[in-house]
Amino acid sequence: MTRLDSVIRRLTAQRDLLNWAAQEISPTGFVLELGLGNGRTYDHLRTKMPGREIYAFERSPAAHPDCYPPEGYLIVGDIFETLPAFIKRLGHGAAALVHTDIGTGDEEANRQLALRLSPLLDSLLQPGGLLIADRAFEMPSCTDISSRTNVPEGRYFVYRRN
Ligand code: SAM
Repeated sequence: MTRLDSVIRRLTAQRDLLNWAAQEISPTGFVLELGLGNGRTYDHLRTKMPGREIYAFERSPAAHPDCYPPEGYLIVGDIFETLPAFIKRLGHGAAALVHTDIGTGDEEANRQLALRLSPLLDSLLQPGGLLIADRAFEMPSCTDISSRTNVPEGRYFVYRRN
C-alpha cells in the first residue's frame, strides 16, 4: 500500500463515519470538532447536520476562508485550556457527537494526548453520545463500538457513551 493509498483509506473511513454519525446521533446536543485544521471535516459536519450547533476548537486557526464557524462557534486556544472552560460554561453531558482529529506523526505524543483528553471527552458526551476519533482513547464510561462499524479495524475509532 502506498502512502497515497493510506491517506485515501483514512479519509474515506473518516467521511463514512461522519455520514453514519449524522444519522445515528440524538436530535439534541452539540457537535464538537476538535482540530479545525483546513476545515474539511467541519464543512462536512455542517453540511450533513444542518441547523446543529457545531463548535470547532483550534489553537492556530488557518482554515479555508469558506470553512470558518460563525461568530462564537470557533474556540481558539489549546484544547487543554479551552475545553475545561467550555465544559464549565455549557455543562457536562452536553455533546451528542465529538469528532477529534488532532494527532500528528508522533505515536507516543498521540498516545499521551489521548490519555489526557479522555476524561474531558468522557464528561462532555451525553448518554448515547458518540466520540469519533483518529486514534484510540481510554473512555471508561463508553463502549468501544469501532468493530460494529464498516470501517476496517484500527483505521478510525468510535465510542458510545453508556
Ligand atoms: N479535520 C481537519 C480537516 O479535515 O481539515 C484537520 C485537522 S488537523 C489534522 C489537526 C488540527 O488540530 C491542526 O490544525 C492543529 O493546529 C490542531 N490541534 C492540534 N493539537 C491541538 C491542541 N492541543 N489544541 C487545539 N488545536 C490543536
